[in-house]
Amino acid sequence: MPYTGRLAPSPTGLLHLGHARTFWIAYGRARAANGTLWLRDEDLDLQRSRPEFSAAMKEDLNWLGITWQHEMRQSDRLPHYQAALRQLIASGHAYPCICSRKDLAQSTQAPHDDDDEPLYAGTCRPTSSGHWALTAAAGERSLLDVMVTPGLSNYRFRVPGNETIAFHDLHAGPQTFTAGVDFGDFLIWRKALSKNPGDIGLPSYQLACAVDDAATKITEVVRGRDLLKSTARQILLQRALGYTTPQYFHCDLLRDELGVRLAKRHDALALRTLREQGLSPAQVLERFNL
Ligand code: GLU
Repeated sequence: MPYTGRLAPSPTGLLHLGHARTFWIAYGRARAANGTLWLRDEDLDLQRSRPEFSAAMKEDLNWLGITWQHEMRQSDRLPHYQAALRQLIASGHAYPCICSRKDLAQSTQAPHDDDDEPLYAGTCRPTSSGHWALTAAAGERSLLDVMVTPGLSNYRFRVPGNETIAFHDLHAGPQTFTAGVDFGDFLIWRKALSKNPGDIGLPSYQLACAVDDAATKITEVVRGRDLLKSTARQILLQRALGYTTPQYFHCDLLRDELGVRLAKRHDALALRTLREQGLSPAQVLERFNL
């Protein structure tokens, strides 16, 4: 398989040095392998995504010298995510969940560091796969309606209890995570927030990422090491959906002199600011200490 990689920025703000370092590594690895790269605009978080940030991130990456061959935008791909959800429901891997929790609002974004999805207590989990024993709280609505109309309900992926998911990360080394311990039944779909009949809700970051990596035949995923646990979740989705698992390379995160992750800093050293201060791309790259 020819090397195919991806850059997957979220257009929720300006790219900072931390993003740029990860994308620079992804670009370097694709070039070294004579491969191609996708630019995937992860714009599913409708509240926080802005078209002007999409334009800015592409411009900033180009300024740095990063180029790609293909582009896609997640908001164009809802029918594909919906098809994957249906497949997971039909195979007993997904179940509707009526719990309303804070983590729902966050689910379309990749979890970084301390904002990871909390372990789900299992309130709506069916007693066995394929057998939908929702709690009485499901109310009057016919369960079948809920199941076939994604907009009406949230959905979770049923993780195999206590199964260890192991993979070899090309940078971070051997990794193991235990389903049900390191993470629980995670959200794969968030129900519609409006009454608009066209609103079918949204896939979570985990589902959209697994579907897109497979659709674009990504052979290697390069991203920050705060997403290692998400990789374990995505491997479970890949297995359930019959996808191939790519290779993974999780980069170290850039920290400031006090050890604070850059994204957590308010000034966050936006590429644009450095550029406006007169720094050249070469001077910015020098800061990566690669
Ligand atoms: N859009 C995600 C982020 O910015 C990318 C996650 C990924 O590379 O899978 O954190």
